[in-house]
Amino acid sequence: MSKSEGPSKCTWTPNTTLPTVHSTKKNEKPLIMDSILQNIGNTPLVRINNISKSEGLECELLAKCEFFNAGGSVKDRIGYRMIVDAEESGRIKKGDTLIEPTSGNTGIGLALTAALKGYKMIITLPEKMSQEKVDVLKALGAEIIRTPTEAAFDAPESHIGVAKKLNAEIQNSHILDQYGNPSNPLAHYDGTAEEIIAQCEGRLDMVVCTAGTGGTITGIARKIKEKLPHVQIVGVDPKGSILAVPESLNASNITSYKIEGIGYDFIPDVLERPLVDQWIKTEDKESFIMARRLIKEEGLLCGGSSGSAMVGAIQAAKTLGAGKRCVVLLADSIRNYMSKHLNDDWMVDNGFADPKYVNTKTQEEE
Ligand code: PMP
Repeated sequence: MSKSEGPSKCTWTPNTTLPTVHSTKKNEKPLIMDSILQNIGNTPLVRINNISKSEGLECELLAKCEFFNAGGSVKDRIGYRMIVDAEESGRIKKGDTLIEPTSGNTGIGLALTAALKGYKMIITLPEKMSQEKVDVLKALGAEIIRTPTEAAFDAPESHIGVAKKLNAEIQNSHILDQYGNPSNPLAHYDGTAEEIIAQCEGRLDMVVCTAGTGGTITGIARKIKEKLPHVQIVGVDPKGSILAVPESLNASNITSYKIEGIGYDFIPDVLERPLVDQWIKTEDKESFIMARRLIKEEGLLCGGSSGSAMVGAIQAAKTLGAGKRCVVLLADSIRNYMSKHLNDDWMVDNGFADPKYVNTKTQEEE
């Protein structure tokens, strides 16, 4: 995006009352792009037909397909925005090293922009995250450091702890910090939310979104509450995470989960939970099965958290009658999970087999 085409700026004051700033600038795709960075944002909004029908929804359900972004996820938006804002403020300069703790997609978004703009990139990534993400990150030139999944966020060996240690050791290095950086929610306040409002021509009743850092849901919710205050914002959080409100929703025997990129054991600064009207908790099996249904029944090649979002959307949208409209955000692509839930054996081995959606037969039986 050249600067003139980029999103207009507003100031961001996290965890305060709603700002009165509005961004109206359109960010249209040019016929010929200067670089692939211009293919971040302006993602399609697609009607969900077959799943809506079989689930008996009366309202219209639309999917914001973030897997069409250049690097394959919603986090390309913040990777680009955090780097551009840091450059504009003079915080970083070409040749510096960027270090980021991430579940992978922010890393890919950052590494993509960093590769084109000439920054070194180090990613600290919990072991849980897929090999596919690691391979893409490496191909983009990033250095990867894996960290134990079970480490608490404030433990020195966690992905956050290791990033901080490296930052102290490496000269001219910076953690742009998606958990606290206002450019994270702003990318969605100026971009994703404006696009949804424009694509719906303002006719919209509910938005459903998962949360990791919470940047996506916070940025979308802020803008939509300003422009269309009647719209309900629904957050989706996996069982085993503590992001949902009221706190009682988070009580669960489940302590870990396999869906990547959503949920946390702390509340990130950029997540403004008062903007969310309702939270829905989801489990792995229903999410992975729904992610496969999105592929099989709608042709949407999205990832696991998209399955969680859709489980939440179906539940929440059942309260909407005919003529109402719900938008659900599908955060990333199946490309990240080719060896995971896309694979029948992986589904069976992890106890997620369901003969209706997973081929449980061995090759000899077939
Ligand atoms: N889904 C996936 C697959 C992700 O990688 C992320 C980002 N961690 C999210 C959803 C949630 O996005 P956010 O960090 O903006 O809450």
